[in-house]
Amino acid sequence: MLRNDQLDQWDHDHFFHPSTHLGQFARGEMSNRVITGGEGVFITDRDGNRLLDAFAGLYCVNIGYGRQEVADAIADQAKELAYYHSYVGHGTEASITLAKMIIDRCPANMSRVYFGLSGSDANETNIKIVWYYNNILGRPEKKKIISRWRGYHGSGLMTGSLTGLELFHKKFDLPLSQVLHTEAPYYYRRADLSMSEADFVAHCAHELEAMIESEGADTIAAFIGEPVLGTGGIVPPPEGYWAAIQKVLKKHDILLIADEVVTGFGRLGTMMGSAHYGIEADIICVAKGLTSAYAPLSGSIVSEKVWKVLEQGTDETGPIGHGWTYSAHPIGAAAGVANLKLIDKLDLVANAGEMGDYFNKAMSEALGNRAHVGEVRGEGMLCAVELVEDKANRIFYDPAKKIGPSIAAALLKRDVIARAMPHGDIIGFAPPLCLCKDEADTVVSAAADAIREVCG
Ligand code: PMP
Repeated sequence: MLRNDQLDQWDHDHFFHPSTHLGQFARGEMSNRVITGGEGVFITDRDGNRLLDAFAGLYCVNIGYGRQEVADAIADQAKELAYYHSYVGHGTEASITLAKMIIDRCPANMSRVYFGLSGSDANETNIKIVWYYNNILGRPEKKKIISRWRGYHGSGLMTGSLTGLELFHKKFDLPLSQVLHTEAPYYYRRADLSMSEADFVAHCAHELEAMIESEGADTIAAFIGEPVLGTGGIVPPPEGYWAAIQKVLKKHDILLIADEVVTGFGRLGTMMGSAHYGIEADIICVAKGLTSAYAPLSGSIVSEKVWKVLEQGTDETGPIGHGWTYSAHPIGAAAGVANLKLIDKLDLVANAGEMGDYFNKAMSEALGNRAHVGEVRGEGMLCAVELVEDKANRIFYDPAKKIGPSIAAALLKRDVIARAMPHGDIIGFAPPLCLCKDEADTVVSAAADAIREVCG
């Protein structure tokens, strides 16, 4: 074991942490945290703190920490065959089995899975697929992608562009010109105080259609959206939103990409978020919950309609010019198979629905009437609490007050991890799907105390 001071020195000198304030870290103005273990919904750090992880890592450790079955599957695969590629028709029993298991859990029109390593690379793949598709169909102008403000789709060049959060664009020369952003289905923040939910849905659909018409439908290839906005604030869509959006997309022959990186494999209490909201996607993107983050793995799942065109395409181009060395990595695939089996065995999708309802209701009852709690919202095992300065007039706090991060810090003092979402004073909760009632109660009571401490 390394001494703590040695580890801290190396961390300070050599580790380039993602999504971290680099200056503050380098100047020692923020502390590091070294995580040493995990069991169920808890993680431990090297100082011996046992923390209830109410964000499941980054909403990914859906089965909880320390699952022996998945660890064994990874070890067995590593011993038997740690790696072989999947180019030119190669595969392993694990990757082929996992492809079948994924398709069995998706809406019936889904056909094939392209494996990657992260949500970001899966979405990069999705956009390349869409471009290839339109080129094969002889529509070289039909290339622009519409995403939503506050959507999150990754941190690559294209996916960082799709992400509709300013933080991911600033000083990176993003978004790229092929990406457009439309209204976010975020009723609480975006709707006029006098607007009904139905009016707001009509407004979102209208904004989308106006954008398509002004750009020209023959230039728009696809629309991408998360069934529930995640990093942008954990916002379930208003009633009727997806039906209204899909009507516009169909009319203009625009493909729909459902980004299910967070919602895939149970988080909403249904196997897939698409089924939950009646989304008929052409492409579905999955990652996080596919392996519960026991190994990095993602999937771009294409419908039969898209597949048929791709197949025809390679008759023109030769083998598809898109491959990662680690596509369908056997260890990731073994983790995925074991993870999906465990989700079934423990009935975690049903638990996410039932316990998620309990958790959301308890949070709402504990906090809904507080003076500075603007909204408590959620779906399945996703929950958000949005804080406001003036509730009656829906006036948000000055970001300089850092209300969200202060609440997350106050929760941490109570040994509960929640996430201050990056834009707005929104505290996000996305516990492992195996959360039990006592644990849900612990999180709610810590949240109530922490919010009282910070907001009064
Ligand atoms: N899509 C969504 C909806 C996400 O939430 C995320 C990650 N939070 C991504 C894509 C990107 O995934 P990754 O970080 O694995 O690249």
